Amino acid sequence: MTKYILINATITDGFSFLIKDGAIEIENGRIVCIGKSDDLWQTDVETIDLQGRLVLPGLLNPHHHLYSALATGLAPIGPTTNFKLILENLWWHLDKTMDAESIYYSAIHGLIQSVKYGVTTIFDHHASMNAVGGSLELIEKAFREIGVKGLLCYEISDRMGEEQLQVQLDENINFWNTHRQDPHIQGMLGLHANFTLGELSMAMIRDRKPEVLPIHIHCGEDKADYQYCVDYGYDGPVDRLNKFGLLSKDSFLAHCIHLSEKDYELIREIQPVVISNPESNANNNVGVMDILKIPKYVLGTDGMTGNILGTMRSHFLQGNGKIDNPLDIQFRWPAELIQRFFPDAGALKVGKRADLAITNYIPVTDINLDNLFYHLIFGVQGQPMYMTIADGIILYKDGAMQTIDEQEIIQNVKNAVRKLHKNYYE
Ligand SMILES: [Zn+2]
Repeated sequence: MTKYILINATITDGFSFLIKDGAIEIENGRIVCIGKSDDLWQTDVETIDLQGRLVLPGLLNPHHHLYSALATGLAPIGPTTNFKLILENLWWHLDKTMDAESIYYSAIHGLIQSVKYGVTTIFDHHASMNAVGGSLELIEKAFREIGVKGLLCYEISDRMGEEQLQVQLDENINFWNTHRQDPHIQGMLGLHANFTLGELSMAMIRDRKPEVLPIHIHCGEDKADYQYCVDYGYDGPVDRLNKFGLLSKDSFLAHCIHLSEKDYELIREIQPVVISNPESNANNNVGVMDILKIPKYVLGTDGMTGNILGTMRSHFLQGNGKIDNPLDIQFRWPAELIQRFFPDAGALKVGKRADLAITNYIPVTDINLDNLFYHLIFGVQGQPMYMTIADGIILYKDGAMQTIDEQEIIQNVKNAVRKLHKNYYE
């Protein structure tokens, strides 16, 4: 289907326009026309009647861990009474267990779960400590097969020693280098967190990092991260990154909960990308990001789920209904981020790549930009989409993946899970 028209829809980019009884014409993967259904309807072009559904831009998940997609049901191997123990007894043990097969199938499974919720771009932070080399290419393969765009990185830490740290650095830098102009998949420099990177490791990263390679790091997620930096004489985790020359407007800082006043000042001054992960933070009992001190941020799921609108709903409820600029957080700023890396995507505009999320929800009450957010929270409610389109290709429609055989894949995923969970407990 190289050309088709979606008609009878409410179309919005989430912040600058909303068209009722609207239509979108898509040709060769791009949006060629946006207007009223009556004006765009053509008898000789395939037409999909959306019956009043809401058409949104394809959604961004700017902080995900696809490697966690097959962890559901795994019991921690020890106590999880604080954040470090949660890492040691669950996530770090899991990532050490992962091999090529489980890396690939966890990515496949996590991507399918994301597409069902309208996500068409994911920034992924990967870890598999005993299968580092080539791991990003396995994830890339999954992204290409499912049809999602993304930025991939390997989360470097020195918990496996210096030699392994070099391998992790190589994995990031090589992947980034070979994908710099790629229209679908690019790389970043993944760092786990300050508290798993000693002074020598940070210096090594500083010396090897190409200047324009952006970092993606957990920053001030738990008090332990803050305390580690203070113990080494810094004013907090952001200050430490800055002193090592690793902080810029292109840095991606996930969480930003436990920070100093100096850290907040640096964020205001340098304006890195801040990603809050409210559901994950609640799950790990690490606190809540101060949105008064960091008013510009986007939301990620941190491996908890593929459901980014559901995450916004949690964030809204956690804030007791006090989120000042939800449409900027959900649409405007994610669009800016996608366009930084994929300039012809990330916007619901004529000429751009057709990445769309179409809700099952059909508004029956009046809808406009002023009340759109409440339609999302109380109408869409974080439910799966009716349709997800990426680069004009319908990836998901009416409960079924359209370009892959999901039943066959589920069998392969289950086989991979059996081996992964067996090795995890051995
Ligand atoms: Zn994370």
